[in-house]
Amino acid sequence: MKKALRHLGKAMFAIALAGSAYIALLSGVQSVAFSRSPKIENQSQLELKLSEEREKLKDKIGKNIVITARLITDKDSSPTAYARKIKEGEYEIVLSNLGASEHSLKHELYHIADGHIENKGHLAYFFHNEPQAEIYALTGLKP
Ligand SMILES: [Zn+2]
Repeated sequence: MKKALRHLGKAMFAIALAGSAYIALLSGVQSVAFSRSPKIENQSQLELKLSEEREKLKDKIGKNIVITARLITDKDSSPTAYARKIKEGEYEIVLSNLGASEHSLKHELYHIADGHIENKGHLAYFFHNEPQAEIYALTGLKP
């Protein structure tokens, strides 16, 4: 029994280590991709980009779905990029000045398009939603 517990402890340690390495890799890929992506400078540019990007995902985003995007221009705000559901069929993407790039817009839009907002457990988030959104933002593939 003790030996079994020791094995279990080792296995859990290995899983935690692999998990941390994975998350570090994911955030590394994201920050490199972000720093190379064209910045979005203002609200009208954001809205224009949103409609272009939405068009590319029209096979996944129903016509009746409302998606708005908001640029936070407060100079003190930290880098932010997220998507949220406002109500049934209505979503919002929020990007801060520092977080606003074509890459982050694509990434957040894919979370909406692929239904990730509805399926947001921590495990789903790290091992499904995040890599999928990132693969789309980087490559245009729709995993
Ligand atoms: Zn994400």
